[in-house]
Amino acid sequence: MTPLREWLKPPRTLFLILFLLTLISVSALSWFGWKVLDQERMVEAQRLQQKLEQSADRIAATLRGTLAETGERLGASSITPPDDGLLLTIEDNRLTALPPNRLLYYPAPIIEPEARPEIFDDGEAAEFLRGRPQEALEIYRRLADSSDASIRAGAWLREARVLRNTGDLGQSRAAYERLAGLPGAIVAGAPADLVARHALCDLSGGRAAAERLRSDLLAAHWHLSRGQFKFYWSEAARLSGDSASPNAGVLALSEAARIAFEERRRDPDSLRQETIWVENQPFLFLWRGPAERRAVLVMRPDSLLRPLVSETGVSCAAADVEGRIVAGRKSSTRSAAIRTAAETQLPWTLYITADEALGQAGMLAQQRFLLLSIAVMVLFLILGTYILALAIRREIEVSRMQSDFVAAVSHEFRSPLTSLRQLSEILLLGRAPSEERRHLYYEMLLKETGRLQRLIEGLLNFGRMEAGARPYRFEELDAAALVRRVAAEFEQQMAGAGRSIEIQGSPASCPIEADPEAISVALRNLVDNAIKYSPGRPTVWLEWGMEARSVAIRVRDKGLGISQSERKAIFRRFVRGSAAAAGNVKGSGLGLAMVRHIVSAHGGEIVVASHPGEGSTFTILLPSLERA
Ligand code: ADP
Repeated sequence: MTPLREWLKPPRTLFLILFLLTLISVSALSWFGWKVLDQERMVEAQRLQQKLEQSADRIAATLRGTLAETGERLGASSITPPDDGLLLTIEDNRLTALPPNRLLYYPAPIIEPEARPEIFDDGEAAEFLRGRPQEALEIYRRLADSSDASIRAGAWLREARVLRNTGDLGQSRAAYERLAGLPGAIVAGAPADLVARHALCDLSGGRAAAERLRSDLLAAHWHLSRGQFKFYWSEAARLSGDSASPNAGVLALSEAARIAFEERRRDPDSLRQETIWVENQPFLFLWRGPAERRAVLVMRPDSLLRPLVSETGVSCAAADVEGRIVAGRKSSTRSAAIRTAAETQLPWTLYITADEALGQAGMLAQQRFLLLSIAVMVLFLILGTYILALAIRREIEVSRMQSDFVAAVSHEFRSPLTSLRQLSEILLLGRAPSEERRHLYYEMLLKETGRLQRLIEGLLNFGRMEAGARPYRFEELDAAALVRRVAAEFEQQMAGAGRSIEIQGSPASCPIEADPEAISVALRNLVDNAIKYSPGRPTVWLEWGMEARSVAIRVRDKGLGISQSERKAIFRRFVRGSAAAAGNVKGSGLGLAMVRHIVSAHGGEIVVASHPGEGSTFTILLPSLERA
């Protein structure tokens, strides 16, 4: 046989085939699982898409409705602006905003009546042309007695200026404070109190006052132009040392109002809705109402869209014509439903997307279940194959042992049969030279037939025992007497071979309840083994005695010994150990199996102690009948 064929011969081939079959089954199972999972994934994706399409239709319809309704209510002036929006009304050159305190500055400042500048001509001539501050002061102070608040305001401002320039800061401050107590009055085109408070901050360098000025500017305390706001804001920042800009959203709203005002001026008749980016923030501008009293709603698209997205796990985004997102959020998943502006008549294209987590949770649970099922199936498959392999191995082992047994037994049979045949032939042909010889041949015939009989009976006994058909007849007997009897059976045979059997035991009786025939068979097997496996050793020992509550019968030899790894296996039927091969000893591998069978039928046990090369001791322990 070639090495490969040798390697492939059973059971390797069998195991290889089994392994390949398992591998194929596991792969097929995994492939099938993967396919099912893929299918599931597709179905789930379709379901998700359907859900998104429905959401898209619903959101587009609701948004259209909301916009139409908002437009109508705007036209009818019955609308309240959203929290982050503005309602602007533009009449001629005037702009009013609702809520009023949301604009930091106005495109067109309110022109309040201011004292005519000629009133102060005398004083200013004295102050600037003639260089007589005292004279100018007197003139201004006289004017400050006027009942007209705007004249008073103009006079106090100038008085404070003269005093400041002449170095009388205390008096100047007092004049500014008087001016600050005149809200509503206008000086030099700006609110008098703002002008005064700014001058006071500048004069005394008070940070706290500058902070207050800042927060009043932020609270839209005054109706200012864009330029005025920027000037006073930068002044307040300089004086307070806080250079932070106003909130971007608030600034954007003020800027949006300015843009609305400019647009109205540019195109007074248009009634439209459009998205305009102000300071990088998107605003929806809705123009409604008559031209002479145009209403403009400025709002963030997000405040319209946000309330419409109610499903968890679904996001909606609106994008303008340039594709910039004006509201909502667009997740980056593949599933999306899109509604273009042309389809929906909305100012934006809508993107309805599913969040990453949506659909994945269900998918994950399914995946986990499927993977678990496959794992369990694979596990069962591997386990089944493993058990099958074990069973096959065992079967192979048993059949090998049986064939070994047949070989061994045939060998056992052959030698007595050959002797019988030869002796019978000699006797039949009358070839025995003398009467003595003939007698010897008859004796040999008897011995060989006895051996054959023992062999056959042994096998039959074992067969019966294995089948549970051998009845045990228990009786009370003395272990010492039994040991002596068995020893006597071997004495003659041993002496013939120049060997001896030594018996040794306690003088007291060792009563046991046993089947004398069966126990003798067990003992004979052990002595037989001791003789067989100690070739060249003159003695084997047979001992008995009490050990705890048991009667111990020990068969000891100084022969080949048994390795640790074999000590358990040799009690199994058909198992022959290394000593059998080493000593070229004939046998069937049934002796110890039979011993164990008999001993356990007596409620006892058999133990072996051995050192390879030094000998073995087999001990039968049987329950003692001796009362303790
Ligand atoms: P057999 O002697 O016919 O092989 P047994 O069942 O009596 O079958 O013994 C099983 C194996 O145990 C033997 O093949 C041998 O290897 C080992 N054995 C039994 N008795 C002894 C012993 N006294 N010394 C060494 N080996 C032994």
